[in-house]
Amino acid sequence: MTDLAAAGKALDITRIRQDFPILSETVNGKPLVYLDNGASAQKPTAVLDAMDHYFRTSHSNVHRGAHTLGDRATTLFEGARETVRSFLNARSTNEVIWTRGTTEAINVVANGLAETLSEGDEILVSRMEHHANIVPWQMIAERTGAVIRPIEITPAGEIDESSFDGRLASDRARILAITHVSNVLGTVVPLERLLTKARERGLYTVVDGAQAVPHYQPDVQALACDFYVFSGHKLFGPTGIGVLYGRETLMEAMPPLQGGGEMIERVSFEKTTWNTLPYKFEAGTPPVAEAVGLGAAIDYLGQFSRESLETAEQALLQRANELVETVPGLSVIGTATHKVPVMSFKMEGLHPSDIGTLLDQQGIAIRTGHHCAMPLMDYYGVPGTARASFAFYNTLDEVEQLFQALQKIQRLFAE
Ligand SMILES: *Cc1c(COP(=O)(O)O)cnc(C)c1O
Repeated sequence: MTDLAAAGKALDITRIRQDFPILSETVNGKPLVYLDNGASAQKPTAVLDAMDHYFRTSHSNVHRGAHTLGDRATTLFEGARETVRSFLNARSTNEVIWTRGTTEAINVVANGLAETLSEGDEILVSRMEHHANIVPWQMIAERTGAVIRPIEITPAGEIDESSFDGRLASDRARILAITHVSNVLGTVVPLERLLTKARERGLYTVVDGAQAVPHYQPDVQALACDFYVFSGHKLFGPTGIGVLYGRETLMEAMPPLQGGGEMIERVSFEKTTWNTLPYKFEAGTPPVAEAVGLGAAIDYLGQFSRESLETAEQALLQRANELVETVPGLSVIGTATHKVPVMSFKMEGLHPSDIGTLLDQQGIAIRTGHHCAMPLMDYYGVPGTARASFAFYNTLDEVEQLFQALQKIQRLFAE
């Protein structure tokens, strides 16, 4: 692309920020600099309005027929499911299951695949997984006698592909559960290559897309994974809603995790039969407004080209990388070649939580701690890290404010 074409496609960040009311807040007397997007992203007015409008004009329980509001609610709810189907390029809305989030989605998959496992079967998970993609597998391993086999990483924070190949070579390998993007390191995993190899070996493939969808639009047919999961709240949508994409034939065969209303076809004391997909996995009254809000978030993002979002985000990451050396004693954890705009770091003489508190005093929100990735913390030999995670609505000026604040902290507090 020529510079001119790139400039023409550049986002108007000043205008975009007006779509996110919370970005105009002040914190401790300073304008908010929100760099904790990896934990939860902020919501545009389009999402707030869609949920408000739903409650004011259309709220009722869904799939009950009998009256007009029920029809309106069902239309909006199922419309949002179609929005997600299109976003993921799934074949059918039968493959799009609403969950409370990534965590619940992985629990549903783990429970569903449990009956395919026997004692000694192996579940492969990488060293950089979020606990949500480790613990459900450990619980299933406990139940079935299967074992967890970690896939190691390199010091830069990339998948160690010889470790991956070694794990895959085992005749007992059955399931690959892997993140698309690391929430701590920002590493983008070479998913196509890994999934192709896993598929050739006949493994079930489960992808944790929680950190990927704010930056990339995954095509589940091109990826050819069996399951892909994410949360609404990291994709500029509401909390309490997430998505489990699952290949239809597998989902047909899998048992549901929860029983109750909505997920049954017929109940009798002799035998209960399950509803068809996707409802089989959606026991109880679903989070209707949240689904509508997530649909609105995806529609909102759809007005921008993914290239223009990525260009803006990569400029933020590049600026942050350039400024690292302006803070003596600061070192970055996670230096993969292919990263989303996430920077984990430590500072000599300072505990991560102190960095977080001192930045907050200056209006800057980052996250500190183990980031629900303790095996990864063990690998780097740290109790936790400080993590700045950027979204497309952040500015280069905010990146500079972060580093100016870190310089000040370093001068005043690091010993
Ligand atoms: C946040 C996150 C999760 C958990 O998401 P919830 O919304 O808390 O269920 C899982 N995996 C990754 C990579 C995450 O970043």
